This record gives sequence, C-alpha cells and structure tokens, in this order.
Amino acid sequence: MEEPVAFSALQGCDRSPSDDSLKKYEQNVKLSGIKKDIEKLCEAVPQLVSLFKIKDKIGEGTFSSVYLATAQLQVGHEEKIALKHLIPTSHPVRIAAELQCLTVAGGQDNVMGVKYCFRKDDHVVIAMPYLEHESFLDILNSLSFEEVREYMFNLFIALKRIHQFGIVHRDVKPSNFLYNRRLKKYALVDFGLAQGTHDTKIELLKFVQSEAQQEGCSRNKYHGVTGHKGSLSRPAPKNVDQQCAPKTSVKRSYANTQIHIKPGKDGKEGSVGLSVQRSVFGERDFNIHSSISHESPAEKLIKQSKTVDVISRKLATKKAAVSTKAVTSVVRKTASSCPAVPTCDCYGTDRVCSICLARRQQVAPRAGTPGFRAPEVLTKCPNQTTAIDMWSAGVILLSLLSGRYPFYKASDDLTALAQIMTVRGSRETVQAAKAFGKSILCSKEVPAQDLRKLCESLRGLDPNTPKLAAGPPGCTSPENTSSPVQIPPPQHSKDSVYRGDSSGCETHPMECTTNLEGWDAVPDEAYDLLDKLLDLNPASRITAEAALLHPFFKDMSS
Ligand code: ADP
Ligand code: MG
Ligand code: ZN
Repeated sequence: MEEPVAFSALQGCDRSPSDDSLKKYEQNVKLSGIKKDIEKLCEAVPQLVSLFKIKDKIGEGTFSSVYLATAQLQVGHEEKIALKHLIPTSHPVRIAAELQCLTVAGGQDNVMGVKYCFRKDDHVVIAMPYLEHESFLDILNSLSFEEVREYMFNLFIALKRIHQFGIVHRDVKPSNFLYNRRLKKYALVDFGLAQGTHDTKIELLKFVQSEAQQEGCSRNKYHGVTGHKGSLSRPAPKNVDQQCAPKTSVKRSYANTQIHIKPGKDGKEGSVGLSVQRSVFGERDFNIHSSISHESPAEKLIKQSKTVDVISRKLATKKAAVSTKAVTSVVRKTASSCPAVPTCDCYGTDRVCSICLARRQQVAPRAGTPGFRAPEVLTKCPNQTTAIDMWSAGVILLSLLSGRYPFYKASDDLTALAQIMTVRGSRETVQAAKAFGKSILCSKEVPAQDLRKLCESLRGLDPNTPKLAAGPPGCTSPENTSSPVQIPPPQHSKDSVYRGDSSGCETHPMECTTNLEGWDAVPDEAYDLLDKLLDLNPASRITAEAALLHPFFKDMSS
C-alpha cells in the first residue's frame, strides 16, 4: 500500500516530488518501522499480547525503546500504559536496580512508579502508568514565569524523594522529567544510570555502585559485564524477582567509563580520548586534546596523576566579544600531599607524553549527558553524591530562565567544562575543583557572568542591550558587547526522544515568546537559587530539601 508513494519519492528525481508526498513517504516509512518494532516486541515478550494493545513507539534511546499501550486492567476501564523495553544487552543487576528504584522510591512525589514487569529470556519490559507530556523545547518559550517556578518546585519534590532513598539519578534533564502542562503533573523517569549513595536504601544500587567504582581496578566477580554481548551468564541476585531478571551482559554504565587510547601516527605520541564522542584535536570549532589517566605504580611514586588538557578551546560562535579560545587547562588530582608541579614534559602542552600514556584511567563513574554534568563529574571525581543531580537541575533552570535549550551543547566532557567556565568563571572553577581534589590550569582567564544579565540578554529582556534578532538557527548570539562571553548557539537536542520534535522551530527569544507574564520582573530569588544550584563545589551546593525552602518558592507548598 505504501509502495507507490515510495516509488514516486525515490525515483521522481526530475519530477521533484512535492513536499507533501515526501512527507507522506517519510511518515509511511516511520510507521512501518514502528509497526515492525511492535511486532518484534510482541514476539520477544509474547505475554504482552494478551494484556496490551500496543499503539505507538514514543521514545527510543540507546538503552531502551518506550511504547504507548492501552490495557483493560479493570472491566470497562481502559488505561494508558508506557512499556519500556530495555535493550537485551543490559546487565541484570543494572535492570533490577532500575526497577527497584521505581518500585521502592517511585509512585509518589513526582517519581514515576511501576505497574508490572515482564521478562522473557533476556528481554525485559517495564510497564508504567503513562503520563502524556510536552516537549521541553516546544514549550520553553511559552512558559509563564509562574509555570517555571512550579516546574522547578516539582522537580525538587522528586529529587528530594529519591535523594532520601540514597539514589543519585545521574541523568536529570528535561526528557527524563515528564511534564504535563495541562494537568500540572510531573514525573521523574529513567533510573537507567542511577547509582547509590554509600548508605542507599536501594539494595541493588549497592552492587551497581561497587561495580562502577571497581572499574579498571581489580576485576571483581561482576566484571564480565564490560565484556562482549553474551559473554556473561549468571543467575540474577537472590533478591531479584526472577520474573524480572534477565541474564545477559551489558554496556550501559560500564561502556561509559572506558577510555580509548589511540596510538599516534608514527607510534610515538598518542592521544587519549574521553569517550567515543570525543572531538579530535584540530577538528571543527574547537581543539581538544585530553588525557585522564590512572597512576601507574611508577607514577605513584612521583605522585602525579590524572591530567586533563583542554587546549585552544573555542566555543563556536561568530564575532566573539571575548572568545574562549585558548582556554587551556590542565586538570590533575591534587592528593593532599601532592604538589601541583608536573614531573613529565607534556604538562600544559598539547600532547600526551609516554609517561602519561602509560597511566591507567581514573576510576570514576561518568554517565549522563555532557551538558548536564556537574564539574565533579566532568573531571571524574570518584566521590559523587546527590549534589550532581542538583547541578543538572540548575542547568534546567538556566534553560528556563534564559529560554535556551540545550544551554550547554557539548559532545564531550572537556568542552562541557570549558563552557561551564565561560558562565561561572575560570578562576572560580579552578578554585572549586581544588576542593574536590582536582587542579585545573587555565592559560586564559574568563570571568564569571552575572546570571541575571546573562539570562536577560539571552531572553532578549535586558533593557541595556539591543533586542535579539531572530536570525537563522545556530548563527546568532546576542549582538551586544556587554555580554562578554558568547554562548554556543542553541540547537535542537539530538537526544530528544519526543516525536514531533522535528518542527524546525528554533528557540529564538523574540520569535516564540508568547507569554511575557512575569518575565519582565524576575525576582532576585530566582537567580539566587540558580547560583546555589550551579555552585561549582558539590559540598556547598544546595540540596533538594533546602531548595524547596528557598525564598524563590515562598508561598508554595508540596
Ligand atoms: P531511556 O533510558 O531510553 O532514556 P526513558 O525511561 O527516559 O528511557 O524513556 C524514554 C522516553 O520515553 C522519555 O523521555 C519519555 O518521553 C517516554 N516515557 C518514558 N516513560 C514514560 C511514561 N511513564 N509515560 C510517558 N512517557 C514515558
Ligand atoms: Mg531517558
Ligand atoms: Zn606527560
């Protein structure tokens, strides 16, 4: 039935098919793809068929696909259900931990709950109440200031809840915090990257945590998990419901901690990258050369370790008033007794010497989305607490107040760190890093921004600066000289899982703002809270519990 459309679209080169038929064709391809996925899911987990009518695919990420289904769980009452099909290669402990977060902490205080879990072989499907929700990008510039206040308040309710259970979510971002604007309903979802605090009440997170922390050191009993698909076949932990425990291996949290070492051309110096997404030195708008390494025994004697070099980092924009080019930094661990004096000859240069290459990687969990990662995550600080979620919440508030999403667009951690410096200041970042045991050197200083001025100018509300022109996507920044730092142009988030996100509408302040309500008089409290969330030092960063009591939320109650 779809064939004729496909033909005209594919073969009608000289007839140039109308936009309509092309759209229809694309729509059909998408639909048949979804149909096939639904069929595959039903084959893999046949018990779903008798209970659910699977209607649509609503989310597709690296680690799961989410479907909308309906079910008649009570007579005469049809319910909408979200079915999350986890990739079969997920580690059983990982899956069981995700489920335990939902069952133990979920179901109230804006944390998503779970209805059922299905398993057949290595396929696991989590059935949750369905919450219809908005695309953050679509509504960002039409939210009233009051809605922003409510949104943040409800996010903190959810974070307070999970933090009380000793859950560090690690992937707090808009697509994981569902928001139904009409019903004023909210739900924190996706515990696929969650970890436990040292005293977590989620039993299975203890396994997840210890695994990540032992990564790269002693290979513990679970260590097959970094291996290849199918290399591991273990029974699930005792307390995991067999109904929900699959038995294959996995990549999720583990693959993220890998560091790839690429030998140099003539076998001399190589470069050490952070992740698969890492930009190559000399590539595109910024040059990155980095190394984060673990001490070799020899290096331990010298007491020098963990370096990150960020070279010639230029945040892509035109006409940078003060460009952040050449923010050269070196991050190293400062053991209390460790002098910040380099002992090899690559320190502060744009290459990694063989001594440094020989070091093992720093052990620290690194996961989530670069633009939302806290500085202590970006610098691979091994001690990560619930404070990292508060930083991510701060980045969301920054988007809400500035009207820009994603605010930080970085494909890797070092770029993300440099972008943070341009907002919070390089000296401030260096100082904070010292507090959590890292030292950063910068070849160029960038000042901290005044958060109100920054947000107002990005929103086009700063009376002292010319209004923002609604230029073509990705090429305009405020055309003013009072804003000392150019922020990377806002772009569509690639990881957005919402459908209908491809409208092509960029978030340009003057273009999409339909609701100025409250935006002309944003109180100081908003920026004070933002400042406390984006506290570079995790030890002093505001907690969810304290945030709920912040004057920004006066007269609100949970
Ligand atoms: P992933 O680990 O792949 O990111 P998530 O749990 O974040 O999986 O789900 C992906 C997307 O699916 C979410 O961003 C959201 O759009 C949708 N989704 C997940 N759970 C629900 C739910 N209970 N109700 C409605 N939509 C959901
Ligand atoms: Mg998600
Ligand atoms: Zn070196």
